[in-house]
Amino acid sequence: MKTANGRLRIVSGTVIDGTGKPPVAGSEVHLEDGLIRHVGPCAGASDPLATVVDASGCTVLPGLVEAHFHPTYFNVAALEDLDIKYPIEYVTLLAAANAKLALECGYTSARSGGSLHNIDVWLKKAIEEGLAPGPRMAASGREICGAGGLMDWNPEYRKIGMEGLVLLVNGPGEARAAVRKLVKDGVEWVKTYPTGDAAAPDTNDHHTLCMTFDEMNAVVATAHNHGLKVTGHCRATEGIRNALKAGYDAVEHGTFMDQECLDLLLSRDVPVVPALYFEKASIERGPEFGMSQRVIDGHRETLEGGIESAKMILRAGGCLGMGGDYGFAWNPHGDYAKELTFFVKDVGFSPLEVLTCATRNGAKILGRLNELGTLEAGKLADVLIVKGNLLSDISLLEKRSNIVAVIQGGEIKAGTALDSGNRAVRGPSLR
Ligand SMILES: [Zn+2]
Repeated sequence: MKTANGRLRIVSGTVIDGTGKPPVAGSEVHLEDGLIRHVGPCAGASDPLATVVDASGCTVLPGLVEAHFHPTYFNVAALEDLDIKYPIEYVTLLAAANAKLALECGYTSARSGGSLHNIDVWLKKAIEEGLAPGPRMAASGREICGAGGLMDWNPEYRKIGMEGLVLLVNGPGEARAAVRKLVKDGVEWVKTYPTGDAAAPDTNDHHTLCMTFDEMNAVVATAHNHGLKVTGHCRATEGIRNALKAGYDAVEHGTFMDQECLDLLLSRDVPVVPALYFEKASIERGPEFGMSQRVIDGHRETLEGGIESAKMILRAGGCLGMGGDYGFAWNPHGDYAKELTFFVKDVGFSPLEVLTCATRNGAKILGRLNELGTLEAGKLADVLIVKGNLLSDISLLEKRSNIVAVIQGGEIKAGTALDSGNRAVRGPSLR
């Protein structure tokens, strides 16, 4: 991604650097040529050539990482819509709009949690080349699921598969073949479905396995051979255990953890992205969209299990990322920060813990902690400035009118700082 030329100074803000350290008031962040140059008390003389952003009354933090992003899920009210409602051309445009929205909400990086067709790979390229605004992405392309599993919902009489969204596999041979397709597609993460979900209570509920251990092992061996990472939708305890034993690099949801799973998780420091607000939204808004009581009851059980597991992982010192499965009608794109509020209000994490998960841990999951995720000299200048004190009210992040600046690679890409007449910004770049 192209980085900005020139210097930018963020002054008078309260800085949360993303490392987990407490905030520092009246701190400065200096950016130069797209990199962070200095974080701390005002250093040296004033710089007449720098653009200055006055961040008084604001929180300054690293750009957020959406760690489970579905750019091609277009706020569907029924899963079936994902695969058949629109042609690839239109879904691509919707995905570009979702990526732009995520950036405007303060998310300067995102890890795809699965995509229709291979759209996220090309979206990532367009963002990297500056053709479309959006988070720095890690792509995963089509998802892998066992035949007859959660993502294989078209009955046989329809005589259509799931080519757009999912590669369906029967046995380790087909699992290997599916990964090899993804290798050619250019993904970085292989997203699989070891388990079902409350959304499919009849045949693939949240306690059902949707892939065999052999299939999962074949996926991991093939993916690792080609340098790809593997993750999976894991709700049932046995599915989580299988994923960890097979060598998965991350676990999505990790809903029903037990002590054995926790020990396996910690032994390799495998990150988990719970994506829990989705469950709450499903329970609260499901009836509006015709969700059955069985499905809602399943989401409630998932929510309760997920909260306990997330607490267990945090207490044990495990790595949690913040991502929300946004892209459903009851959980639409743009609501990303509701996940953060949820973790403070409903799960009981401290705001600082949640922000560390959403910044440093997100970068760690992306494998880019050396470049992103904390405000430290030498890293890429991805910085967020938000009006108000996030530690006393994390929900400030939910309102885009509170986002003063989303800075990516040293350039202000979104936020009220760009509004004409905004006096918070002054300096050479505004000539
Ligand atoms: Zn997902």
